[in-house]
Amino acid sequence: MYKGIAASRGIGIGSICVIVEHELKYEAVKVADTEAEKKRFLDAVEVFKAETSAMAEDIRKRIGPKEAEILEGHLVMISDPTMAGEMGKMIDAGQCAESAVEAVCDMFIGMFSKMDDDMMRQRASDISDIKVSLLKLLLGIKDIDISKVEPGTVLVAKDLTPSMTSQINKDNVVGIITEVGGKTSHSAILARALEIPAVLSVPDVTTLVKDKDTAVVDGTEGIIYINPEGDVLSKYIIKREDFIRKQSELKSFLGKPTVTADGTELELFCNIGTPKDAKKAMECDGEGVGLFRSEFLFMDSNHLPTEDEQFSAYKEAAVTMQGKTVIIRTLDIGGDKDIPYLNMKKEENPFLGYRAVRYCLGNRDTYMLQLRAIVRASAFGKVKIMVPLVTCVDEIRAVKEMVAEIKKDFDANGIEYDKSIEVGCMIETPSASLIADILAKEADFFSIGTNDLTQYTMSVDRGNADVAYLYSTFQPSVLRSIKNIIECGRKAGIPVGMCGEAAADPLMIPLLISFGLTEFSVNPVLVLTARCIISKWSKQEADELAAKVMALDTEKEIAALLKQEAKE
Ligand code: PEP
Ligand code: MG
Repeated sequence: MYKGIAASRGIGIGSICVIVEHELKYEAVKVADTEAEKKRFLDAVEVFKAETSAMAEDIRKRIGPKEAEILEGHLVMISDPTMAGEMGKMIDAGQCAESAVEAVCDMFIGMFSKMDDDMMRQRASDISDIKVSLLKLLLGIKDIDISKVEPGTVLVAKDLTPSMTSQINKDNVVGIITEVGGKTSHSAILARALEIPAVLSVPDVTTLVKDKDTAVVDGTEGIIYINPEGDVLSKYIIKREDFIRKQSELKSFLGKPTVTADGTELELFCNIGTPKDAKKAMECDGEGVGLFRSEFLFMDSNHLPTEDEQFSAYKEAAVTMQGKTVIIRTLDIGGDKDIPYLNMKKEENPFLGYRAVRYCLGNRDTYMLQLRAIVRASAFGKVKIMVPLVTCVDEIRAVKEMVAEIKKDFDANGIEYDKSIEVGCMIETPSASLIADILAKEADFFSIGTNDLTQYTMSVDRGNADVAYLYSTFQPSVLRSIKNIIECGRKAGIPVGMCGEAAADPLMIPLLISFGLTEFSVNPVLVLTARCIISKWSKQEADELAAKVMALDTEKEIAALLKQEAKE
């Protein structure tokens, strides 16, 4: 049995497929037979072209023509006589094909990445993709096609990037195990969205297992078994059935309002990453979107999305939600989220660096595009703007000034928008929590981001397994912070929601009811579980429990009490 971080609930039992990361290593030898080397190179280019056009065709059919454009661009680039010609010349001069590919690509990457134009800078990341593909072909490295793994597969990888996760076919993958990543890492969030049990941060797991080993993934407890004994396997088969049965019982909460046991109605919203997820939010009976992580639009694109591209994504979410609230969080990059074409500087301490609203205010033109797109989308639904990582009041004031400027421009040009569009802020830093009373005078609403609030309050990297034992919203400091934020919001008469993962934690829910939280924003698949738990607690019961909890000194005592008092 191995322990890791419980990242996505449920029990998965299946056969392991290890996703190996290959190093693109080669010896840069001088070649004598340059003709043979040139043929090896040209053969690789032909295979690259054939594979790329097949993939482009597949994407065109499955997803759409716009998405296929990236790969078609790669085909145009590699067919351009300049790039392949330069590589050929180097091979003629005795370089091996690998070093010719690497040198020429690096030269173009260096050239394009220095350009001012975004489209040109994007070329740098396209060429980087071409380089990796050509090197893999020359070195005979074959990647596993994650979208085509056998049914009943448990994926094991060092890390699961968002692009790998997006290839996962939910019908075939029954579990995920990784060596790195925390509960709030984006791969964890995506695993939850796909409803695939996942255990992350299992030390050295890729070397502990091999293909076809049997694995039990207990994503609820954060435990895995490799080739378990018969009795363990039978126990987990029963547990899996039990989990599935409970999930289906939750269906009785579909279409019901979210109310506490004593009849107070609360809002139960969803966290989404793409406009398509809004559909999922509706299917799962979400009452709105409490967090649209807009950075996924930027991460899934190979160029800075234009105002129109962003507008159509935000509009799609607003229209899909049919008049229900859609809170769009403005670009939250930096920290663990990099966007290659933005060429952000590598930082010593990225979580304390040029992140989120700091980056946006420093890159006004980029931010202006996004804010304009969101304000335009407000004509199509109940759209709100949410600013991430606020630490001081100047930041929210600066964003509001930009929004006011946009409104003036739209008024002058007859562009429609919601004149009462709200601007709220995420409270996810200790600083914002400590000045929540000041921020409440400027913000139209608060949403507590417990993923970051816990990280910054406890000074623990949210993805670092070595300090994960400290990363808990049940720490007295984090609970005091949450309580204070809600009280400040209530005193100022603004709504306070929570979009961090803690909003869906069954043990946390009674405390949030007691503190006075009015909006819970959770992963769509957790809507019914959260609605069920909320329905079990009256304010008085929640208050009694909260009083006992807030009198305790340690996280362990608090977690134990909450577990003991939990209502199944
Ligand atoms: C949070 O920090 O709680 C949050 C919701 O934002 P993210 O997880 O995207 O940083
Ligand atoms: Mg955050």
